[in-house]
Order: sequence, then structure tokens, then C-alpha cells
Amino acid sequence: MLAPKLQQFLKLHDESEASHGIKNSLGDSFLYRHNYIFKNIRDCFFKLGFTFTDKDFCHYTVMPYASLKSILKEKKVPYFDNVTVLKEIEQQYPRKFNCHDIVKVKPNYILHESSHCIVESFLKDLQLSTNQLSTESQKAFKLVMAEAFANTVESLANLPNDTVEKRLFFELNSYAIHTKKVNQNIQQTYDLLGPTLIFHLVYVSYLFSNCLFPEPNTKVYQTILELLIPDVSVRKKAFDSQAVRKTFNHAFELSQDFRIQTTSFYLAYSGINGDLFKVLQVDIVELMKKTLFIQNLLKYFDFLFIQKNQ
Ligand SMILES: [Zn+2]
Repeated sequence: MLAPKLQQFLKLHDESEASHGIKNSLGDSFLYRHNYIFKNIRDCFFKLGFTFTDKDFCHYTVMPYASLKSILKEKKVPYFDNVTVLKEIEQQYPRKFNCHDIVKVKPNYILHESSHCIVESFLKDLQLSTNQLSTESQKAFKLVMAEAFANTVESLANLPNDTVEKRLFFELNSYAIHTKKVNQNIQQTYDLLGPTLIFHLVYVSYLFSNCLFPEPNTKVYQTILELLIPDVSVRKKAFDSQAVRKTFNHAFELSQDFRIQTTSFYLAYSGINGDLFKVLQVDIVELMKKTLFIQNLLKYFDFLFIQKNQ
């Protein structure tokens, strides 16, 4: 099959223009129209009063990890204009370049940052008051809850990308790009569990991985399923399914070194002191048994993962 031409993609981009989409972020409006998770996140983002800007007011280009505080404070998410340059190229060399060349432009991570904005609306007033966690651990775990949410949104937003065009545009708008195999597992998990239980499962997997734990053993995994899946027969099917287990384990595929490096910087930058591993030594299963902090967050955001009737 011939690789699609840049011209075709720019045409698709232009034709998709949507009032909630960003004109100069490649594929943004297209994904808004064709990816229901992307759309749900965007609609909620605007409802909460956030906006976008092409002005880098928070060193986003140089160090995005240090930008989040400013983003939340200003209620603005920066993005790069990655359309104008491609249009100039296309005008200069009509039909010369194909889609592989598009991948070389700077992507926008609006989906990830918007998810942070949305989850913050829930977390900002949340007191993780439990005698299970030290004050430092409470602060750290709130950051983990936020990051896990952004990771989950990006991961599950791979699901609706069932064409070359959707995948290519998604690659320009997300950190989490799945291989075909990973997407197949997620699809099977979705078919078995439905839109909200898969959200719960993937979210909890990212809580574990962002607390820098290794993959839970079978016993812990079984307890997690017991806590998340009320229906006994569905739970049994989930427990027996390789696809569900692989979907859960996907969160642990990111290199441990990378996770340690980014997490340790981010926690220190957020004013959290102490030994990283100690601060993140949160017994997530116990927390779910004794409190409803995690379950409440899941319930609160279920609607973002459900496809509304057109
Ligand atoms: Zn993040």
C-alpha cells in the first residue's frame, strides 16, 4: 500500500475543523470528531474554564515536567503550531512528501495536559486523610493519582483509532502510542469488561506503576480484581483472560529508570521531601479496602470513557 501523502493529511486536517478543536495543532479537530475519549476530555476541559495558547508562558518547550503548576494556575495549556510549517512545505513541494515526514514535526501533548487539568478539579480539595499515610505520602500519592489519570486517558484513547489516519494523527497528539498487539489486548479487555471497568483496571495499574512498584503478583492481582469487579462471573472471566492481564501489565512496560528519574524530579519539584521509595510505599490495596478515595475518583470520571450516542 502506498504511504498516504502529506497533502491528503493536510486536507483531512482542514476538512475536520471543529469549534472545540485547535486549528493549528495537527489532527486536533480530526481526533475531536473521530475519537470519543479525546472529545469527552476536550468538552470537559472547556466546561471547567480552561483554554489553550500558542504562547509558551511556562518553559513548556524546554521542560514540560516543570510546567504543570503554571498550567493549572493560569488555566491555560500551551501547544505548538505544527500545521503552518507543513503547509509551507506542501506549497513549496506539492505532493512530494508523505505521512512519514509528518511524524517528524513536534507533537502536541494536549490530551495529556488537559487530563491533568480535569483531574485537578477533583483532587484540589481532596484531603487524603487516613492514618495509613504520612503527610508526605499523602502529597505524593495525590500527584500519583493525577499522573495515573493522564496515563489512563492516553492509553485508552488508543482504542477508537481503527484507521491509518486516526493512528497517525493520534501519534502526533499523545505520549502513549500502542503497538497493534497492545491495542488488541485492550480491545479484548474492553469487550469483556466494558468502558468503565477497563478504565478502573487501567487506572489502578498506573497507580501501582507510578508508585514505582513492579507488576503485582497473582494474589495481589486477584485482590485488585475482587475490589474492582463486583460481578463474580465477569471477574472470573477477567482473571482467566491473558488479554486482561496483559492490559494491566502494560503500565509496567515503561522503563523503571525513566519512571524513577521523572518521578523523583517531579516530587522534589513539588516540595515533597524524603526518600522517594519510602514516600511512595503506599499500600494501594489497603487504601482501596479502607477508604473510598480511589473508587470515588473512578466513579466521578466514568463518563469520560463512555461513547455517547451521536
Ligand atoms: Zn503528566
